Amino acid sequence: MTRAMFVVLVVEDDAAIRSVLRTLLESQQYRVVEADTAARGVIEARGHRPDLVLVDLGLPDRDGLSVIGEIRKTSPVPILVLSARTMESDKVAALDVGADDYVTKPFSTPELLARVRAALRRNARGSERLPLIKLGALTVDLTNRSATGPEGSVHLTPLEYRVLDCLARNGGMIVTQAQLIREAWGPDRLGDARGLRSYVKMLRQKLEPVPSQPRYLLTEAGVGYRLLADEAPDGT
Ligand code: CA
Repeated sequence: MTRAMFVVLVVEDDAAIRSVLRTLLESQQYRVVEADTAARGVIEARGHRPDLVLVDLGLPDRDGLSVIGEIRKTSPVPILVLSARTMESDKVAALDVGADDYVTKPFSTPELLARVRAALRRNARGSERLPLIKLGALTVDLTNRSATGPEGSVHLTPLEYRVLDCLARNGGMIVTQAQLIREAWGPDRLGDARGLRSYVKMLRQKLEPVPSQPRYLLTEAGVGYRLLADEAPDGT
């Protein structure tokens, strides 16, 4: 799929920001559809079937959260929140109603474009499992549950694989602590944020070149984690 085929819906009431986003996205050959209210956003999402939706939370008619909830009722399209709200609780609320990721304003252009690419990649793959992830010199095979680095194989526990698997399936997007705990531990087993933190710490010891300065398994303070694997050589 070439980028020219991707349609990005921008739901944002600030005309100046919409214009910046349009210029930026069009420079990457994405097609842009704009909506300046929540109501318009929901209509355009149905009409244009975008490949990605960027949503501001502070909209004049209704809160952006309701746009996310409305779109989620009928569509699995990736939704990226672009908001000036920086509270952890705002981020968690947006992810809980179905957003895939969150970028705070003012945003950096490279960061926003990286999140857009990650969201579109995740969508192109759908729910297909990623067989292999590359983290620098390390290759993790999630299907066969093996990990190999320059010094040979690296042992990961089943729970560590489940944590990685959940992060990898979300391809670079934030995964909330609650979602990771639910998916890695399972509904009947007890997991908590503290347990998760210690597993993340152990995973970093095994996967990161410098565990104290993670490059791949990143923390979103108070919200959750994301896994930024290296891009596959074919650019998919
Ligand atoms: Ca706004």
